[in-house]
Parts: sequence; structure tokens; C-alpha cells
Amino acid sequence: MSEKNPKLRAELEGIPTYKPGKPAAADGPAAYKLSSNENPYPPLPGVMETVTAAACDLNRYPDMACTALTEELAERFGVPASHVATGTGSVGVAQQLIQATSGPGDEVIYAWRSFEAYPIIAQISGATSVKVPLTSDEVHDLDAMADAITDRTRLIFVCNPNNPTGTVVRRAELERFLDRVPGDVLVVLDEAYREFIRDAEVPDGVMIYRDRPNVCVLRTFSKAYGLAGLRVGFAIAHEPVAAALRKTAVPFGVSQLAQEAAVASLRAEDELLGRVGSLVCERTRVVDTLRAQGWTVPETHANFVWLRLGERTVAFAEACEQAGVVIRPFAGEGVRVTIGETEANDIFLKAAEAFR
Ligand code: PMP
Repeated sequence: MSEKNPKLRAELEGIPTYKPGKPAAADGPAAYKLSSNENPYPPLPGVMETVTAAACDLNRYPDMACTALTEELAERFGVPASHVATGTGSVGVAQQLIQATSGPGDEVIYAWRSFEAYPIIAQISGATSVKVPLTSDEVHDLDAMADAITDRTRLIFVCNPNNPTGTVVRRAELERFLDRVPGDVLVVLDEAYREFIRDAEVPDGVMIYRDRPNVCVLRTFSKAYGLAGLRVGFAIAHEPVAAALRKTAVPFGVSQLAQEAAVASLRAEDELLGRVGSLVCERTRVVDTLRAQGWTVPETHANFVWLRLGERTVAFAEACEQAGVVIRPFAGEGVRVTIGETEANDIFLKAAEAFR
């Protein structure tokens, strides 16, 4: 825990807030942004250098096939390059997955509440969303999700860890669920926050997909790798799925800056994952403090915490904003708060304590 580890705390306190959130009041001081699950660390100097160098060629189109990045990812994950498909953020890849598999009359199943983009991208393709409520413990109800499969189901999202609750699906229950899914239904394991998991029972989708042609793993450079502003994500899936993704890709959808920054980030992975380790320690501190204050906090495996507040949700978010941190309210349900800089987390914890 960072409180017990002064070096770590000093390190986190040293993170410059390179992009503050919007001011709480028009003329007020800028608030910390803890509303989008971004990484508070600025890009590594080496990554910045790569981006700056790539910017000299802004008059040129990027490599449409994302060759270097695809090869780097294939090597990193030990999969054939033909199993890798890159896209404009993982949300872009998710949209391609729906486009490639589903249209009007087809059904897309996902837990709810989960990532807000699922209903939006389902709607774009004309598919019908089938939302299966989370259990009272805020976790995926995989039995109910399997029961919801019909002959119109084309795609199922399993968000692991789930946004916004931070909860996870473990290996045995996921395998049991996958055994119940027909082979012509694609299961997308959305692992945007994979690097923040510290529970050995949570399976790595890349291990799961190998034996299951109808499983596709979705990952992003936006969270652990800190490149949210560059919009680059990727899928790992068997050849037919990856090929369908390439066919539905927006041409030149990943900029050269993004491709090169992603490659540089993979090569600097140790340092970036060290930062993730610091954020995980900070997460423990935030959760422990909230629980000590009396809040019920579900075990989180991502870079955010979830508080179910019901009718008090909006008032709580407003109180936080007044205190100097912008968080993400889901009106009538709860709030999601990103683990950020130590100072931002401290402001949030103080506001949470005052609100109880
Ligand atoms: N999946 C989940 C579960 C997310 O929370 C997010 C970002 N909020 C994404 C995918 C999309 O990330 P990006 O498009 O930046 O890769």
C-alpha cells in the first residue's frame, strides 16, 4: 500500500497533472479528472520522442495494414500475425465486430450495467441489444446470459473486468459458460483493463481463445499503456474473425503516430507495467479507505472503483466536483471513480468521507 510505502507514494505524488479536468465552476480551479478511467501518468519520454519523430511525416498516410504493430503484438502474445487485428481504439474494433457479425434482427447479448458503448454500437448496426442484469454482487450472471441465447444471437460481450463495477469472471465459470455457447455465436472477451488484474483465477483471454474459434479477445493501449488520446486497440482471434475485422476496418483508421507509439509502448512494457503496479497499490489504498469510512465497495480488478448510491448518485458526484474531482455518475445507480494521482485520490476520499 502506498501509505506504507513512502517511496511509492512520493512517486505517485510526483505525477504531473498534464491535463486537468474541466473546472468545477466556470471561474474555479481545474478539477482532477477521474471520470474516464484514463492513466494519470504522462507518456514515457521515449514514447514522446517516437511520436514527435513520426509527426514529421504527417503529410503521409499511415501504414494501412499496421504491419509493425501487428507483428510486435503477434510476438508479444505468441500468436500468428494473421490472428491480430488492430483498430481505432478497442471500441472501434468492437464496432467492427458487431458490423461483421450482426445486423437488423440479430441479437447482441451483454451484461448490464456494463460498458456504455455496447448499446451504442449495437444500435449503429441495427442489432437488438439483450441486456442481462448483473447479480446483486455486481458480477456477470453467466447462467442467465447463456439462457438468453436464441437462434438470433450473433455476438456476446463479456467485459472482464466489468466497466463500471470492476468485478471479474473467473476461469471455471467462464469455461462453463463458453461450453454452453453455440459455435456460431462469437464471444468477445473485452479485456480493456486486463493489466490491472492481480487475481490468478481470472483467466487471460489469450489463453482461452486458443482452443475456441468462437472467442475473440479485445485489448487496448488506452489504459495500462496510457495512450487513450491516440486511439489504438486490437483483437486477437482465429483467422476467420480476424479477417472479417480487417474487411470492416476503416481504411487508415490507426494513425502512424498511434502505431509507432503503440510499438514503442510494447517495447517499454516493463516500465509501463511498473506504473500499473503503482496504480494497483493506490487502488488498494482507496478501497481500504472507503471501506474504513463505511462504504460498500465491490472488489475491483481495474483502475476504478464502483459505489452503488442509488438516488444519492448525482448529489455525490456534485459534491466531488465541488471538492475538485470530476467522477462519473450513472444517475439512480452509482458512481465510477478512476484511480488517479495520489492528490486526486485524496481529494476524492475526503469528499467521500464528508458525504457519508
Ligand atoms: N472496453 C471497455 C470495457 C472500456 O471501458 C473501454 C474504455 N472506456 C473500452 C473498451 C474502449 O477503449 P478504447 O476505445 O479507448 O480502446
